[in-house]
This record gives sequence, structure tokens and C-alpha cells, in this order.
Amino acid sequence: MPEIIYTIKDLEELIKKNYEKPDLDLVLRAYTLANQAHEGKNRSTGHPFISHPLAVAYKLAEMKLHLNVVSAGLLHDIVEDTGITLEDIEKQFGPDIAGLVDSVTKLKRVKYHGTERYVENMRKMFLAMASDVRVIFMKFADRLHNLQTLYAMPKRKQQRTAKESLDIYAPIAGRLGMSEMRGELEDASFAYLNPKEYERTHAILETKVREKGTYISKIIALTEGMLTQANVTEAQVHGRVKRLYSLYKKLNRYSGDISKIYDLIAVRIILTDVEDCYIILGLLHQRWRPVPGRIKDFISQPKPNGYQSLHTTVFCEDGEIVEFQIRTQEMHELAEYGIAAHWRYKEKGNLSTKQLKWMEELAIIQRELADKKDFLDQLEMMKIDIFKDRIFVLTPKGDVIDLPEGGTPVDFAYAIHTDIGNKCTAVRINDQMRNLDTPLNSGDIVDIIIDKNRKSPNPDWIKFCKTRHARTKIRDATRHTVKGWLTTVMQGREKAKKPPKT
Ligand code: MN
Repeated sequence: MPEIIYTIKDLEELIKKNYEKPDLDLVLRAYTLANQAHEGKNRSTGHPFISHPLAVAYKLAEMKLHLNVVSAGLLHDIVEDTGITLEDIEKQFGPDIAGLVDSVTKLKRVKYHGTERYVENMRKMFLAMASDVRVIFMKFADRLHNLQTLYAMPKRKQQRTAKESLDIYAPIAGRLGMSEMRGELEDASFAYLNPKEYERTHAILETKVREKGTYISKIIALTEGMLTQANVTEAQVHGRVKRLYSLYKKLNRYSGDISKIYDLIAVRIILTDVEDCYIILGLLHQRWRPVPGRIKDFISQPKPNGYQSLHTTVFCEDGEIVEFQIRTQEMHELAEYGIAAHWRYKEKGNLSTKQLKWMEELAIIQRELADKKDFLDQLEMMKIDIFKDRIFVLTPKGDVIDLPEGGTPVDFAYAIHTDIGNKCTAVRINDQMRNLDTPLNSGDIVDIIIDKNRKSPNPDWIKFCKTRHARTKIRDATRHTVKGWLTTVMQGREKAKKPPKT
């Protein structure tokens, strides 16, 4: 992925093109502050640091997000990296922009080390901390540019960033129905995580596109002619080339046999009404014989995720096999921007109603991004309140531990490992010594101090522990101590027949 260096002039031009009566003054003020703050600093690429916030803001303006978001994009790295504080930003730009910058800064604490066990927590935390959907868009824009400039980073950092993007960011983009964003994140990460396979897949795709490009153009022209003859005027016909990572996964499923992949380049026909979809399918079949068993009517029988389209694969001109996808504009947007049902289908199980509702709301917003009319206002209004009964706490390494609200350092310690729980003696929360019963908050960095010689946990901890897991472990570990035995008896929780030998 080549890096494009944007200037403030480029950003201004884009904003003038994409927005009606934009508040350019706001953006310029944000730029001026960011430029001063990052003055004299370079990125690893050798470019001035300001090239990064500019690229992030440019992406956000391409997505036509509110200029508050674009301005926050310009400011997103200054609290962490320079002497400017959040209060300064709030004074100059108000609470909304300051809030966005704050959320993005907080999300930086989360680091993924590739531990499978924490993947789902990471995703949840990402969503929970980005309580405002605009923060997610900012994080995606930030990450995308970091991936584009990853070549200048040390190998270890490349691997970590790419893995985090593939395991955490891309699936979230997918869940939000941002299929374009997901594809970009996946392909960029793929290049670093598996360069050999990336090159191989790239070569296969390039060869095939070169071989088939002219042919597909011919088929598109023929199809357009067919539509005109049928008096279907408002139609779009285009070729859709499969993305690299998606092709790579499919190739693996077909033992690498490229000849079995018929949708490498598909022809997509987008129409205005449903009836036309069937008419055009009929016309296609009159002209080209369908491959048996490959006609799929997802219009009358939508996929469980709500996806609608007609698919057919035909023996096209000169006997070549070509897949067609026929859908209305509305179905197209649905497929592109996703619906919550899509997410439910792909990641079934372990979802609470609350999560689903939230995803549904997001999905609706995503679809509205397509026509953008009331979208900006809606985003402004929306504060999403999810996972209210859960908190997400970090280990000093940046791993995420998911706890119930009110969870304490002892719950945290047992969530990591029984031994850490049994031997914990003190805790540092955000670099300050605290009591073991201190209720934790989302985003806290918790460092448990253990005493290797400690024999067993304090049975009194049970009183303030919020997780059953911690309580059970404490009970197991203290059953054999006198104090533990007494506690058990006093609580009358279980029959304690005789005191243990000491
Ligand atoms: Mn950044």
C-alpha cells in the first residue's frame, strides 16, 4: 500500500468538495494547534509527524463524518505526545472534540499480544471504551494509516500491529458491516503476517485479472446492451474483484485450486426494483446456459443474515464460467453496510440482548451513512451505552480482563491465574498503591503484587469479591486452614464436618 502524503490544502479541497458550508475555520484551528504541537518531530517514515494526523483527518473527511470528528482526527495524538493537555483542547474546541480525543487516547492503552484467550475481551473492550461510535471510525482511520506506514517500523512492531488489526479491528469492522474497511484492514495486515502467501495470492489474482480483464469488460458491455434492449435504464453493471485475504482463505478451502473459484471476478448488476432482478436473470439464462445447481435466489429466501441477491453462474461467451450477482440498490447497500442480523448469523451464541440492540443501532447508522442525509446529526445525538454491567481492566502488559461491575483487584488476580489470586498481597492501580477491595473501573491498569511465600488467601476476601470464580477459589484454598474452616462454618455455606489438622 503506497503512502500518500496529504497537505492541509488537500484536506481543505476535500472538505469543500464533500461538505456543504463547512466550518473550515474550525479545521484550520485544529490543524494549527496540531502542527505546532508536533513541530520538529518526524515519524519513522522520515515524514513530519503532522502527515499522520492529516492522513487520519483526510480519511474521516472522505467518510464525510462531522467536522468535529475530522478536527479531533487532527488533534488525536497531541495529548499523549506533546505538552498540550485535554483541558487546553476543551478550552479551545469545546467538550465534544475534547471527549473524542480523550476516548481515542484511552483506547491506546489496550495492547494485544496475540494471546488467543484475550481476543474476545479485546473486541469487547474496544467497543465498550469507544462508547461513541465516532471514536471507532477515528480508530479505524488511525489504524489504517499506521498500517500504510508500517514498513518503517521494526519487525516486531509490524507483527504486533498487523496481528492486532487482523484479529481485533477487522472483525469489528466486519461486525459493523463496514465491509470495505474490513477488506482494507485485512489485506494490509495479511501483507505483514504472511508475506509469502500474500505475494503468492497477489500474483494469482494479478494473473487472473490480466487474463480475464478484457473478457469481463466485454461481458459487461454485452450485459449493458441486454439491459438497454429490455428497457431497463437505471442500472449499474460492474466487475467486482475478490479481495486478497478473502481469496486466500477461499483458496485454502479449495486446496489451492483456483479453477474452482468462480467468483474471482463477478459481474454485479444493480437495479432499481426487485421485479427487474428476476427479468434480468431470465434474460441472462436465455443467452447463457446456467451451471446446474448454482442458481441461488437469496431474494425470496434471504440468507439468515438478511443478505439478498440473485446469484447465478453461467457458461458465458466462449464457454468461460462467470458468476453474476443481481440485486437492487437497497439490497446492495445492505450487503455493503451490513445489518445486525449479519453479525448474529456469523457470530452466533453468547450475545446478550443488550449487545444485539446496540449492534442493530450501529448497523442502522452504517446503512444511513450511505445516503448521509441525517446521518451526521444522528451521530451527534448518539451516545451508546453498552456493557454497562461489565468493566474492562488492563494488566500492565495491556491484556484485557473482563469483570463484573464493582470487581476488585482480587477478582482480577483470580481471573488471571489461581496462583496469582492465592498469593496476592497488594495492588498498584494506575501506579498507586491501593487496597485489595478497591472497586476497579474500566481502563484501570492493575498490577498485582504477589508474595511467593504466602500459603493461602485471606478467607475474608470472599466478602468483597464479585466473581463466583474468585470466591470458589478462595474457598478451595482456605478450606484447609483454621480461619477458612471457621469462615465456612459461620457462613453456613457448606457442611464442615471437622476442623482441619494444622
Ligand atoms: Mn495516531
